[in-house]
Amino acid sequence: MSSLLIEHATIVTLDNENRILHDAAIAIAGKRILAVGDTPPDFRPDERLDAGGRIVMPGLYNAHTHAAMTFARGYAEDLPLDRWFNERIWRLESALTSDMVYWGTMLAIVEMIRGGVIGFADHYFYMDRVVQAVCESGVRANVAWGVFGSDTGGEVGITIPETVAFVKATQGAADGRLRAMFGPHSPYMCPDHFLARTAAVAVRENIGVHIHVAETPEQVTLSEAAYDMTPIEFLAHRGLFETHTIVAHAIYANDVDIAILAQKDVNVVQCPSTHLRYAMGVTRVPDMLAQGVNVALGTDGAGSSAALNMWREMRLAVLTQRQQHCDPTVMGGATPLYMAAPNGARALGFEQAGALQPGYAADLIIIDSTASHFQPIHDVIAALIWCAGPADVRDVMVDGRWLMRERELLTIDEAAVQQGFQTALQEMMARPLEQFQVYEAGAEEQT
Ligand SMILES: [Zn+2]
Repeated sequence: MSSLLIEHATIVTLDNENRILHDAAIAIAGKRILAVGDTPPDFRPDERLDAGGRIVMPGLYNAHTHAAMTFARGYAEDLPLDRWFNERIWRLESALTSDMVYWGTMLAIVEMIRGGVIGFADHYFYMDRVVQAVCESGVRANVAWGVFGSDTGGEVGITIPETVAFVKATQGAADGRLRAMFGPHSPYMCPDHFLARTAAVAVRENIGVHIHVAETPEQVTLSEAAYDMTPIEFLAHRGLFETHTIVAHAIYANDVDIAILAQKDVNVVQCPSTHLRYAMGVTRVPDMLAQGVNVALGTDGAGSSAALNMWREMRLAVLTQRQQHCDPTVMGGATPLYMAAPNGARALGFEQAGALQPGYAADLIIIDSTASHFQPIHDVIAALIWCAGPADVRDVMVDGRWLMRERELLTIDEAAVQQGFQTALQEMMARPLEQFQVYEAGAEEQT
């Protein structure tokens, strides 16, 4: 078991006391953090690292994405959500290949590691290839195989029994870096009977669920017209919140919905870039946090957010709330950092991870804070939230293993990934396209 002592660092722990230590050390033994601040006198590290002028903090979690969708970056611009789905994304995805998922995910992982992201919650297709990418690259992930269900009774994509087999084979794989869940797309795209069956099997097999919900006012109107329930009430009623659950967006949550999310311990993921780009609205994050809901942050897929940049998401999470509430004090202090790290780890189902404290996973990133755009650092938290970007991340460690040192990727051949990605993209773009799903925009078009 190798050991490491990182010395002379500014350490942002994101622990329960929000401790920030200056000129401090962090001791790592194997996959775990041994000590933060006071190094045990008998600790004899194999290696010492002088982190003077650098900030050490927990790695970030992208808690809702479709990583492979790097292939759709810039493919569907300036469209409302229904046309984005119907005219662009669900046509392009009809040509999706397993290779595109692998290479698209590898390209996403390159971008995420370079930006300090050490774990992601992924919701997509051909997830066996995402598992392959996670195993090879050394990051963490919670993977959900996206399924739509159909009105005729079967599933689009893999079946529920196949999903159960996939989850059982994946849970805890990659030396414990993988979690797996059910991935029904959403209440608006999945038939009632399919969601109920998914929930029943999820409870029986103790499998979590990752799902989109309440993205537009029209989705709420349609749900209320069909069931006399909001989409969140509907999911709760059908039993989707009985196991570990991640819901993406939850923009149109009313007070009752938020109480349900809190009571059922549902993890909510806000994706500010996507919400802003598609003018979807603002998730009620301060209200949710006040009610004790675990709220994390995600980029969503690059097809909607363009970048897998969690620094931007943190900043926008604050800015959107301040604009919405006309209140410059809302979401203050380290709130977005907590959403991006410990809350993200919890959402993905990684225990003892997401903060720098003894016994926790040795997952950390090192930021070079000597650059001009950080000067002066009166407030290290403010510097991270308002001044830092992906390019400031120098080093990334997961489970005590370096994935990047001084911006050099150690587990991935970036040039080979770019080449593989381009080849897979050309093959996919040469295939015929057809629309394989239909998004019904809203109440006014239904009537
Ligand atoms: Zn999504």
